[in-house]
Amino acid sequence: MASRGGDSQTLSLMKCVRRFVYASLLGLMACWCGCQSGSKADLQRFEFKQPHMGTMFTITLYAPDEARAREASDAAFEKIAALDRMMTDYDPESELMQLCQKPFGQPVRVSEELFDVLQKSQRMAELSDGAFDVTVGPVVRLWRRARRTEALPPADQLARARESVGWRKLKLDAGNKTVTLTVPGMQLDLGGIGKGYTADKALEVLRGHGVNRALVAASGDIAAGEPPPGKHGWRVGIGNMDTQASSLAKTLLLRNAAVSTSGDSEQFVEIGGKRYSHIVDPRTGIGVTERLQVSVVARHGEDSDSVDTAVSVLGVERGLKLVESQAGLAAFILKKEGNKTKVFTSRGFERIPAEW
Ligand code: ADP
Ligand code: MG
Repeated sequence: MASRGGDSQTLSLMKCVRRFVYASLLGLMACWCGCQSGSKADLQRFEFKQPHMGTMFTITLYAPDEARAREASDAAFEKIAALDRMMTDYDPESELMQLCQKPFGQPVRVSEELFDVLQKSQRMAELSDGAFDVTVGPVVRLWRRARRTEALPPADQLARARESVGWRKLKLDAGNKTVTLTVPGMQLDLGGIGKGYTADKALEVLRGHGVNRALVAASGDIAAGEPPPGKHGWRVGIGNMDTQASSLAKTLLLRNAAVSTSGDSEQFVEIGGKRYSHIVDPRTGIGVTERLQVSVVARHGEDSDSVDTAVSVLGVERGLKLVESQAGLAAFILKKEGNKTKVFTSRGFERIPAEW
């Protein structure tokens, strides 16, 4: 995943802790409903945390006893760890990176799950007219280096990297479950969908263990199942762009839904007075410079996560058009212009059953 700490576990852990603290500051943490015993089955609330994918995953669930809660959350964390191993681009041994090392033009058979997440990514690429694009790997790598060196990627390197970017260069064959990278130098990057996808899968595992009242949160990506006993939903706060502000910009009440938030507040580089986000426009290879914080609500985390990235690229007007074109999507966008922060919402946003 995008920000996993590679070869140094200490560094990776520090990064996790830093991201977690940061997410809390942003207010992108869920504000759990009260710690109450359940109604009929006398359910109790449990919370478990583990670092994965360069961030902290928190599972909050209601179960009859600790043994059942632990069994379910252990299985869910196992799933999260397995998906991290599959999708990370920091480990050359991950299935994703192994795929990228194969000679171009050759169909490669991949696991059901990798195929599934790539298929969903391609659907989102088509829907967003290429704003969401998992083939951005080569340019994302240049911008990661730019963040370290605080210098723009050299023009010739950027031009070369861009030749390997483009969602139509990635071919999937659903019948044979094969993937073909059709041009040399292609690198896939699932950083824009992986956490939301994984939160969905973790909820599925919990359900398989009889735990339906659960919430899986991976900093900005949160997937909710059935609500806590006696409640209408899980209260989830969306933070303000100004990290100094402790107040929340919005509070949602979610059940069987997901919310993801993307912003440039955490990962960016400022060069020549311009601020470049870790989200890049696949058509130009340049980090997004508009100051946006995009929250998207969807039925599933794989959609909320990928759409928030797409909207960050498309900007407010085209982004809202995309969101409003699809049933079951809603968006809440903050846009910073100078000292002012403007709020934009999609039409459907007001219909989310919530307490605001
Ligand atoms: P995070 O929650 O980690 O901030 P986002 O959902 O905002 O993740 O996605 C950002 C990540 O997605 C980047 O770090 C990069 O790995 C990847 N990415 C960047 N630009 C794009 C894009 N246009 N389409 C798809 N993925 C992208
Ligand atoms: Mg995203």
